[in-house]
Amino acid sequence: MDKIQNLVKKQKKYFETGKTKDLLFRINNLKKLKLGIKKHENRIIEALKEELNKSAFESYTSEIGLVYEEINQAIKHLKKWVKPKKVKTPITHFGSSSYIYYEPYGLTLIISPWNYPFQLAIAPLVGAISAGNCAIIKPSELTPKVSQIIRELIEESFHEEYIAVVEGGVDESTALLQEKFDYIFFTGSVPVGKIVMEAAAKFLTPITLELGGKSPSIVHKDANLQLAAKRIVWGKYLNAGQTCIAPDYLMVHKNVKNKLIEYMKDYIKEFYGTDSANSENYARIVNERHFNRLVSYLQDGRILIGGRTDKDKLFIEPTIIDQINWDSSIMKEEIFGPLLPVMEYEDVYEVIKIVNEHPKPLALYFFSKDKHLQNEIIDKISFGGGCINDTVYHFASPHLPFGGVGNSGMGSYHGKSSFELFSHKKSILKQTTLFDLPFRYPTTKDALKKV
Ligand code: NAD
Repeated sequence: MDKIQNLVKKQKKYFETGKTKDLLFRINNLKKLKLGIKKHENRIIEALKEELNKSAFESYTSEIGLVYEEINQAIKHLKKWVKPKKVKTPITHFGSSSYIYYEPYGLTLIISPWNYPFQLAIAPLVGAISAGNCAIIKPSELTPKVSQIIRELIEESFHEEYIAVVEGGVDESTALLQEKFDYIFFTGSVPVGKIVMEAAAKFLTPITLELGGKSPSIVHKDANLQLAAKRIVWGKYLNAGQTCIAPDYLMVHKNVKNKLIEYMKDYIKEFYGTDSANSENYARIVNERHFNRLVSYLQDGRILIGGRTDKDKLFIEPTIIDQINWDSSIMKEEIFGPLLPVMEYEDVYEVIKIVNEHPKPLALYFFSKDKHLQNEIIDKISFGGGCINDTVYHFASPHLPFGGVGNSGMGSYHGKSSFELFSHKKSILKQTTLFDLPFRYPTTKDALKKV
């Protein structure tokens, strides 16, 4: 733990030199990061295969490729982003001009989870570097191989006064949280998010919490059912459902339920074959604790599709469960696995009402051609972000800030938003000395009356 204290001290001293603020320094280090990832790309893909059985294609598209895109965006636009922005000045401030300066916070801490263990540790780092900060990353202990590669990659690319990795679990995380950082970026579960927020409160450290929750998929009777089925199956069973923005449960209009489920069955077969246990493309559950938790949900309702499990291989088949209600245990917490409970509805306004009675979701997906209903959903339900007629894809756009609201988190990042998130916005009014308007001074009461 002395090591952690020392590291924090070293980073603080290094930040004070001002080197990390230099634009060229930031761009060069973003390039270094990209080169480091390129060098270890195959190892990252192998480790993701070993620890989560992710296919090379899935690892590239949902982890490594996303990070490259974040780095490319930052390199391309950073010069523009860092420039102080001139904003309007009210007439009452006549003679002055107004600017927003972007200032790095200083020492930042990034704590990340195991489900996208590479991307969720490195994408925030892109923001931290772009904004001119130092950073310590604490990757997840549940994917130790990826964590080790992250450490090696960072150690080879940067000196620890600037960017460092502390590997480990709760003890290391707790020790880090006892130190004073200038910004904390946490991705993980709601209960641990509360622990992080409490620790940050001690130093009044600003934080971002990227948390989870139950994200609904709602399929209305006028939806393109083929596409809805295809896109829900993709978003749900990607990484075997261990995705923070995976459709957690499905609400479908009763008139189209059977058809939709039929199509979903076809797409599960198309994507993962007749035996998903042998599919190259289908991930495994991260550990036995999560496996047992998920298996217990299979007691709920009636299994329509899937349901097979293999504890030795931590395999759970893509599964759809019917006859579920809000009292079922599977509806009590985030599922975070390849089980999709289905509930039917008649009136979409009932769906809006019931979703609003629960904690605000991280994502929401609505399938319908009706523009009015699409807007009703966007307008009447509060959620982090989401898609109309798709699932998960909003996450991959660098132009859309990604984050939760309420129980699903606070703060958002990706692309320019990452730069902004890791920057303090410093407002500056530049006043003229050529004249001095009298209105604000107590000695000019009469002048004010005239206004
Ligand atoms: P987790 O909260 O258990 O762990 C996240 C990180 O916190 C890990 O690095 C872990 O070592 C650390 N940690 C665990 N217990 C701690 C404690 N008591 N004190 C301090 N640090 C502690 O989450 P997880 O199981 O790794 O990830 C799954 C959760 O993350 C799900 O709820 C999922 O929805 C959420 N998630 C959210 C996003 C997002 O972008 N919003 C992305 C991925 C995952």
